[in-house]
Amino acid sequence: MTPPALLPPPQVIEWRSGPAVVEPVEHQPASARANTLSAALRGRLPGGKLPAEGYLLETGPGGAVIVAADAAGEVRARQTLRQLGGAPAVRIADWPAMAWRGLHVLDSGPDSLPALVRLVHEVLGPRKCNVLVYEIDYNFAFTSHPEMAAKGAWTIAQIRELGAACKAEGIRLIPELQCLGHQSWKKPPGALLVAHPDFEEPSDKKNPQSDIASDEFYCRSWCPSHPQVHAFVSDLIDELVDAFQTDAFHVGMDEVFLIGSEACPRCGKLNPADLYAHAVNDLHHRLHKRGVTMLMWGDRLLDGKATGYGDWEAATNGTAPAIDRIPTDIVICDWHYDGGVTGAYPSLKIFADRGFRVWPTVYKNLDASLGFLKAAREAADPRVLGGLASIWMPAGTMAATLFGDGRVAADPDDPQYRIAATALADLEAAWHPATR
Ligand SMILES: [Zn+2]
Repeated sequence: MTPPALLPPPQVIEWRSGPAVVEPVEHQPASARANTLSAALRGRLPGGKLPAEGYLLETGPGGAVIVAADAAGEVRARQTLRQLGGAPAVRIADWPAMAWRGLHVLDSGPDSLPALVRLVHEVLGPRKCNVLVYEIDYNFAFTSHPEMAAKGAWTIAQIRELGAACKAEGIRLIPELQCLGHQSWKKPPGALLVAHPDFEEPSDKKNPQSDIASDEFYCRSWCPSHPQVHAFVSDLIDELVDAFQTDAFHVGMDEVFLIGSEACPRCGKLNPADLYAHAVNDLHHRLHKRGVTMLMWGDRLLDGKATGYGDWEAATNGTAPAIDRIPTDIVICDWHYDGGVTGAYPSLKIFADRGFRVWPTVYKNLDASLGFLKAAREAADPRVLGGLASIWMPAGTMAATLFGDGRVAADPDDPQYRIAATALADLEAAWHPATR
C-alpha cells in the first residue's frame, strides 16, 4: 500500500503497519485509546499541547480515534480522515501554521451555486481553508432599495445554502461589497451609479487614472461627501450581513484613484486623507454597532513613496495619512503580488505597530506568494493573521477550471488553471509551510 499524498501534509505523520480502519470514529478525549495516542504524540506538539484547530488522529484496528483541540480541530481531523481511505494505518498530530487561511473570489452568480458547493467540499475543505471572502458586490436581491435588486441575483435562501456548505467545512464565509472606489471599470458605471448617478464623484485631471478622458482612467468612485450615499450603502450592507449571517464584512476600498475631485462641489476643497478616513469611519460605525468586524484592503493607507511600494500597492494620491484617523479594530488585507519592496514587506510592521490586525494577501505569482507568507510567519506577531489567497476570477470559473465543466476538461496549461492552482498551493502553505 502506498501512503496517499495528503494536502496539506500533516505536521507530524507516522505510518504504521496494517491497513487504516477509519470507521467507527471515536472522539472521547478521555478514552483509553485517546490517552495512549496523546501520550505517544505529546512530545511532538509545540509546547506539549495542541494549538487551536489542532488534532491528533489514529487509524487502525477498531477504527479511528480523534483528539481535537476544539470544534474546529474535530472538523480538520475529519477532513484528513476523508483522505485516508485505503491508506495504511497512521498516527497524525496536526495544527495550522497560520490562524487565518483564506480564499478571496469574485461573484459568479447563483447559477454557479452547485459548483461552489462542490468547490467548498472537494477543494477548500480538504485544504483546511477557514475563510472564504466572497465578493458579491451588488448581485443580491436587495429589498431595502428595490432599484438595486438585480435580475437573477442571489436570494437569501441561496446564500444560506452556500453558508451551510462552508460551515460544514469549518469555513467562515465573509461577504465583500466594494465601497467608495471600484464602482465601474472605465465604462459603463456599476449598479450603484446606474441607479443613482448623483452619487458619482466627478472625474478630474489630477492623475490619468482619475481622468475619464484619459486612456488610463481606472474606476469610478462614489462621492464620500454626498449626504445620502452612506445611509444608502449601509442599508445594502445590513442586508448582506443578515443574508450571510456573518460576524465580519469586507468593504473593499482599494485602488481609489478618484477622490477629492476638483470638479466635486462638496469634496473639491477637502484633502484626500480626510475624505478617505471619513468614508472608512462611516462604514465602520455602522458595522461596529452591529458587532461586525470590518475588513478592508490596505493599499490606500500606505505611503507609496515612503514605503517604496509605488502607486498601486500603496497610495501616492494623498490618502495615506488616513491610517492614523481610523479605528484599529479593522482587519487590514495587505495585498502585495510581486515580491513587496525587493523581498521585504514593511507594511506588516506599519499596520501591526499601530495595533491593526493584518492579513497578508497574495495572488498568482507562487514564489512571491510563498515569500510573503514566509515574511508573515517570521513577523511572529499574533496581529499578523495568516494568508489570504486572492483570485480575481469568478468563483464558478475557478470551479469549472479545476473540475472541467462537462465540455472542457481541466487543463493544467490554462492560465486560469494555474492561477487557481497557485491559490490552492498558498492555502496549503498557510497550513503547513513545508508543503513546497
Ligand atoms: Zn465628492
